[in-house]
Amino acid sequence: MNTKIDVLGVWVDKVTMDGALERLMEFLEEDAPHAVYTPNSEILMRAYRDEKFRDVLNTAELITPDGIGVVYASKILKDSLSERVGGFDLASRLIEKVSDGSYSLYFFGGKPGVADLAKEKLCETYPDLRVVGTSDGYFDAEKEKRIIADIKEKNPDILFVCLGAPKQEEWIFSHKKELGAKVLMGIGGSLDVFAGVTERAPESFQKMGLEWLYRLAKQPSRIGRMMDLPKFGLTVLFKGKRVK
Ligand code: UDP
Repeated sequence: MNTKIDVLGVWVDKVTMDGALERLMEFLEEDAPHAVYTPNSEILMRAYRDEKFRDVLNTAELITPDGIGVVYASKILKDSLSERVGGFDLASRLIEKVSDGSYSLYFFGGKPGVADLAKEKLCETYPDLRVVGTSDGYFDAEKEKRIIADIKEKNPDILFVCLGAPKQEEWIFSHKKELGAKVLMGIGGSLDVFAGVTERAPESFQKMGLEWLYRLAKQPSRIGRMMDLPKFGLTVLFKGKRVK
């Protein structure tokens, strides 16, 4: 069976949420860094336009389909992805899985204070969760050196990199070999949600595949980015597919 599907030049893994979680647990057992990206339609559209970014995405050990747009696209390509495997949901499942302290985490990204708040909230729910370090995601070259040194010193098994796309994917690509973490996930605004700074769309919206609409209503400035959604659908419609 083909294990990946080509969506506009990005090789998205054909995994379910359970399957993706299983892969992450296997990665944690291996002595090597593993980049995990969770692109939605907007990010795939960017990758379609930008070859360098596309190449960065394709170096990942796991690429999951975040967003209903990517799942629909796979149906158009007649090689269905069975469900969306969103970054926030996958990270939540992973946190639950390692909440006994079996593996350590580091939170990198978001505005100052957000990663700390996410740690605080999650540790209230999971008292044995081992979050060994945090850094905000706004840095110059000097601060970046300090962040890298801090991550190396704390030596986490799992690193959440939440800088938004494409910054987080490019950052993981550039630094994954030097940090020591085994799983490095680029998961956008997830720390904001864990911290309770932004809210997830209600489940009814998620179930109907309308999370994008909820986010747009809450943050109308996203309209520019969201214009990529229809463009994404049309581009997929008029492109062939490759599988491997
Ligand atoms: N961010 C950051 N550093 C930056 C730019 C953004 O840490 O230089 C953070 C920002 O605070 C937010 C996240 O990256 O927490 C991006 O969120 P967004 O909702 O745009 O990401 P998405 O999930 O849509 O990719």
